[in-house]
Amino acid sequence: MTEKELIESGNMKMEWARNHMPVLAIVREKFEEEKPLKGLKVGMALHVEAKTAVLVETLAAGGAKVSIAGCNPLSTQDDVAMALDTRENIHCFAKYGIGSKEYYEAIDRVLDLKPDITIDDGADLIFKLHKERTDLLPNILGGCEETTTGIHRLHAMEKEGALKMPVIAVNDAKTKYLFDNRYGTGQSAWDGINRTTNLLVAGKNVVVAGYGWCGRGVAMRAEGLGASVIVTEIDPIRALEARMDGYRVMKMEEAAKLGDLFVTTTGNRDILTAEHFQVMQDGAILANSGHFNVEIDMDALASLSKSVKTVRNNIKEYDIGNRRINVIAEGRLVNLAAGDGHPAEVMDMSFANQALCVRHIAENKLLNGVHKVPEELDMFVAKMKLKSMGISIDELTSTQECYMSGWECGT
Ligand code: NAD
Ligand code: SAH
Repeated sequence: MTEKELIESGNMKMEWARNHMPVLAIVREKFEEEKPLKGLKVGMALHVEAKTAVLVETLAAGGAKVSIAGCNPLSTQDDVAMALDTRENIHCFAKYGIGSKEYYEAIDRVLDLKPDITIDDGADLIFKLHKERTDLLPNILGGCEETTTGIHRLHAMEKEGALKMPVIAVNDAKTKYLFDNRYGTGQSAWDGINRTTNLLVAGKNVVVAGYGWCGRGVAMRAEGLGASVIVTEIDPIRALEARMDGYRVMKMEEAAKLGDLFVTTTGNRDILTAEHFQVMQDGAILANSGHFNVEIDMDALASLSKSVKTVRNNIKEYDIGNRRINVIAEGRLVNLAAGDGHPAEVMDMSFANQALCVRHIAENKLLNGVHKVPEELDMFVAKMKLKSMGISIDELTSTQECYMSGWECGT
């Protein structure tokens, strides 16, 4: 494709996404009227694809100058990156398939523009700010973090007194994790796996590692596709929930022997390791939909292998002697590295939270540390989403309110 065609393709993807993100459209309208981000610079490291591009446009509509790098080398869509970069007040430094050096250089270029507010998905910008670019910290009003693992890291920094800026844990808004992590990952992980493998899920044993918000979504949709689902967990409560939701629960060392298809969603490392690869069935397929490419021990798999070959676009087959193991998208996030990520309607809520939180940081002097998304913003997103879906709900009467909250209104 020529550069012009790529830009056209990026613009088309953005228009489709924009038309399916009604809550973000409401935020954008207000931003256009009130320009709450006028004079501010927002630096971002997120998955550069169409839904993120609509967030970037929204922030620019609010008066901000926005610069963006990727947050995963395989999730950037070059057409969208190029289309974004043509917009006024927007710089995009993301490129698909770059190596680790170029990846961190792009993050540096975002920081070179001296952002006042950051938005991260996995805390890359914040880590760089705290490790190498500390001179920029005094300028920072605050940051927003999109994902569960990023927030775990920020809490660890806060606990050690190492976090030198305020950060809003956007992932922890109810209108984020209950929908994005569950229904978003539930659908987009299978979208990525199915379009990449073009194989049937029905009748297969699907092993889901981790029964958190992402794992629940992936298990629920696997069941819907006709799989027999096995869950592995380390948390007794979540293991019980998985069992009572109807799934088999066992240790990975047992599940490894039974699975046809494995999806990791733990946010942890070394979930599938050499001991598991050695007992898997010939032809087993592995995918990761949790954070980062460490859930599947790719180094161990490579060193066990006699040969590695590409057997289909984005699938590598590792021949470990007596069996072949297939890995999708190098063990990186399958929904984004082998698909288009979460659907627009879900990212609508996640990114409306992001935009509202950026405004909140701009308008309030927050103290260093990890902050919750203000309840009223979370509720605003829920109400606007319901409205956009044409759904009305009941309201408490004053008698009901008294009954529910007091002790003198009767039992
Ligand atoms: P979560 O904390 O709700 O769930 C993780 C679960 O994994 C927990 O129940 C935990 O007990 C379990 N777990 C941890 N170590 C384990 C182990 N060794 N074996 C089995 N289970 C183990 O988190 P979440 O919100 O579901 O997010 C999970 C990961 O996915 C995070 O890294 C998050 O950043 C990422 N994420 C990815 C997407 C995506 O688009 N693919 C979307 C949202 C979140
Ligand atoms: N840097 C990490 C990021 C974890 S991604 C890594 O590459 O491993 C997990 C986050 O991706 C989720 O919290 C979700 O909100 C976000 N996400 C999922 N689909 C997306 C999409 N279509 N566009 C932008 N972000 C998306």
